[in-house]
Amino acid sequence: MQKQEADNLPRVEIKTLLKEGLLSGKQSGLIHWHDPSLGNEYIFRIGSVYIDEIEDLYPDDDAKSQHDARPLEGLVEFTSMVIATLDENAQEYKFSQEFLLNKSIALKTTPCNYGKSRFWFSCPGIGPKRCRARVGVLYWLDNRLACRKCHDLTYKVRNIPKKERHKGRLHNIGEIDRMWSSLRKYSYKGKPTKKYLRAQKMTGEHNAAVDAFLAKGGLQREFTD
Ligand SMILES: [Zn+2]
Repeated sequence: MQKQEADNLPRVEIKTLLKEGLLSGKQSGLIHWHDPSLGNEYIFRIGSVYIDEIEDLYPDDDAKSQHDARPLEGLVEFTSMVIATLDENAQEYKFSQEFLLNKSIALKTTPCNYGKSRFWFSCPGIGPKRCRARVGVLYWLDNRLACRKCHDLTYKVRNIPKKERHKGRLHNIGEIDRMWSSLRKYSYKGKPTKKYLRAQKMTGEHNAAVDAFLAKGGLQREFTD
């Protein structure tokens, strides 16, 4: 059976929460995701965000300076998801559907440069199966937010023919995912770690190859692998 493709699914990205200030004090808000293929706007309502304060975890300065040793944690409460569609004249968005989520999703962190933390979602999994994978993106499918693996998703780029893959330095997405989620230290003694640089390089090469492929009209063609 053909797997569902991740490319055009509504999603919540941790980097959007960061951009909207939801990981640094702002406690509620809306997260938009624009569907480039249909022009729809998907809006996730966030009711509240809780993040452990470093001060709470580390009462004295000594412990605080060893911040790298222990991660921060948090919680995001998703209340609902609204789909907005463009009107007939493509002038204005109108709300067309709202789905209730009422779902709390845990946040995890890994240490980053200069005592900062990099945030991740802890995937809630689907059904009784708890996943807890550290992921940067949660996909929305069948009214559930979960990681790519739990939704059993594939990417369109997997359908690129093998001879094309060699040209553009496409890497195995699973391998890139694993590199990022197993990354513990982004820097050591003020310098980026080798592992971090390798993950960055591979991701950059991969994205460039995918962009080049899509620019050639790759999405319009169907491939069998
Ligand atoms: Zn998962």
